[in-house]
Amino acid sequence: MKIILFDIDGTLINAGGAGARALNHAVRAMTGHPAACQSFQLQGATDKANFENAYKAGAGRKPTRKQLAALTRKYVDRLPVEVTASIRAKKYLKVKGVEKFLIKLSGRKHVMVGLGTGNLKDGAFIKLEPSGLLKHFAFGGYGCDSHHRSEVLEKAVERAAKIAGVKIKRHEVFVIGDTHRDVEAAKEAGYHSGAVLDGFGDPRLIMRSNPELMAKNFVNLKPWLIWLGLVKDPKGVRRGTYICPDSPIEHAHYGRTGLDLRDIETSMKQLREAKKKVTRPGRD
Ligand SMILES: [Mg+2]
Repeated sequence: MKIILFDIDGTLINAGGAGARALNHAVRAMTGHPAACQSFQLQGATDKANFENAYKAGAGRKPTRKQLAALTRKYVDRLPVEVTASIRAKKYLKVKGVEKFLIKLSGRKHVMVGLGTGNLKDGAFIKLEPSGLLKHFAFGGYGCDSHHRSEVLEKAVERAAKIAGVKIKRHEVFVIGDTHRDVEAAKEAGYHSGAVLDGFGDPRLIMRSNPELMAKNFVNLKPWLIWLGLVKDPKGVRRGTYICPDSPIEHAHYGRTGLDLRDIETSMKQLREAKKKVTRPGRD
């Protein structure tokens, strides 16, 4: 079984700032602060954490449970308006190639595609609905599940296991996101991690978080499918035979260059032969 979890913002779609505008609207309604989201980094965090930070930025203190619930309601009520505004302004976009990728993944017997997002479940559905991509996701982990992204991912896997009726091992889970926080959460949970660079993440931070695969978007699906182990490397290079430790990105890289332990073995053999000739010159 392979479980593939997609982040939403910057990985599947770019909602043109609809989430931040909706949250600003909700905070303004409750505290009067006009632009609470400007004072902290929204991307890559869970909605639960973002809502607390936004309220704190607006009111100067942490929200009570009741205030947080009211803020959440106001956000969810406002989100469709802001998503529609983004669509009208032509700022609601799908990440390049993602639809083709999801179609390619669908209908496979041992592949389950789900969401692994910091968005609240309602927010996730509202944001994704206009993209037409929602039908590809049978389950998910959401920002309402936990403050911690890694726990959100684990929750998604738990739900997948329930649907499939099987136990899922950590190495069977692949997480795709657009920020270093997606990568770190995947690693924390013991899952594979891949990152798109066309989203909201800082490429240097993504690189530092060291995902197994980094790609601009999904226009070229080959590296993604090789990483997922769904297609064989065109050069037929065996996995785990490289000098460097085995990882999908190295697989893709060395697969391209053709550098393989077999090449090294041949060279070593030639060296050994040459050495024999030098140390025992009389025999030839
Ligand atoms: Mg994201």
